[in-house]
Amino acid sequence: MAETVFIGFGSNVGDRVDFCDRAMTLLSLLPHSRLKGVSLLYETEPVRDRTDPGEGWFLNGVVQLETDITPRSLLTTLQEIERSLGRDDDNRSGPRTIDLDILFYGEQVIKEPGLTIPHPRLHQRRFVLMPMNELDPLWIHPTLKQSAAQLLAEVEDQSQVHLLFPQPSTRYGSRPACSSQPGT
Ligand code: ADP
Ligand code: MG
Repeated sequence: MAETVFIGFGSNVGDRVDFCDRAMTLLSLLPHSRLKGVSLLYETEPVRDRTDPGEGWFLNGVVQLETDITPRSLLTTLQEIERSLGRDDDNRSGPRTIDLDILFYGEQVIKEPGLTIPHPRLHQRRFVLMPMNELDPLWIHPTLKQSAAQLLAEVEDQSQVHLLFPQPSTRYGSRPACSSQPGT
């Protein structure tokens, strides 16, 4: 049975809109999967927590898929997409052409070497919660038992996140039209 999956993406070097757009295109082409929604693009100041992403502001967003791909294969696929878009594996914490993270995989809770779902830092990151709240504010975090809207209302992260303006045109039409529709 297909699961609803949310994937976070971010880019902070080069032509960021193009990297995000190409990542979305590749995600829309995955086998056994259907693209259900794409958030608007958000511009985010770089946060230095565990990493040093450089000076460039990020573009961030979230994609919603329905997929039969298993969590582990999906992670491998996302890493292939990151590599194909030029992500430097030798300096993973540095500036990134594209970063793809599995945020949620249905209601599944997974803690394996190299794969933690829900993504362990998503609830601390405003730049994830804003697009997540846009796509599905009522989505419940399976371990914290709070909705995306509640997590966003309570997040302590005060870093600046605002909608990119103007939004680029997209081959997916107006982005909100990609949101899941009842009964589809
Ligand atoms: P981050 O996205 O946290 O800034 P990286 O993209 O460099 O950091 O990811 C580091 C590692 O995180 C990857 O090698 C991957 O195995 C692991 N990882 C664990 N859980 C997840 C997840 N849910 N989605 C993506 N990567 C994950
Ligand atoms: Mg990542």
